[in-house]
Amino acid sequence: MSVAELLVNLKELQVLDERIFDLKKKLAEIPARLKSLDSDIEALDLKVKQKEEGLKRLQLDRKNKEIDLGGKENTIKKYQTQLYQIKTNAEYTVLEKEIGGLKADKSVLEEEILALFDEIEKAEKRAAEEKKGLEEEEKKVEEEKKEIDSERQEAEKRLTELEEKRKTITPLIDKATLSRYERILHNKDGMALVPVKGENCGGCFVNLPPQIINEIRMKERIIYCERCARMLFSED
Ligand SMILES: [Zn+2]
Repeated sequence: MSVAELLVNLKELQVLDERIFDLKKKLAEIPARLKSLDSDIEALDLKVKQKEEGLKRLQLDRKNKEIDLGGKENTIKKYQTQLYQIKTNAEYTVLEKEIGGLKADKSVLEEEILALFDEIEKAEKRAAEEKKGLEEEEKKVEEEKKEIDSERQEAEKRLTELEEKRKTITPLIDKATLSRYERILHNKDGMALVPVKGENCGGCFVNLPPQIINEIRMKERIIYCERCARMLFSED
């Protein structure tokens, strides 16, 4: 087989290999894409849980304050009953002062409880919004995952087709050239054979000496770029 014919086969192979490389890259990126979608959801889920926990803390706080308030109300009632049974003025004054203090505590608690009602209402709203956001994102992610899956199936199908086609070309290339080509392909991101562009290597763009360009055009042997090691061919 002449070098010219060999280059024709290599060019055909390179066209396939470039597509194969792109498809494999696309397939290799899929797990990371899926993982990133999952971590978006996890982050939102965490936010929802934090909001719900915050809400629970407020509700518990309110409950405790209500219990506290109930206790103070009972004590006030008890003391007020005792007031009628007291014999001395001094004792009366002490107890009255005690009741006054409890009433002051009680009104502070009542205000705090009212404020908590407001806070709880806001927290409920925020938690509900956050949850709604999560549910919407979950739906979106579900759709995106379906899309990714159909992309994957399509890419796998296409890849199988291209690899089948590749098998019809590789036997036309001698083993030594093919293995060198494949080594370059592997090391140079799926581009082993590149055209000369003007006076430059189409792979790494290094300037090629005129005599090398001549040799490439003559097609007596395969010429490799001295810088990037790719195989070179001339389009003219
Ligand atoms: Zn080069």
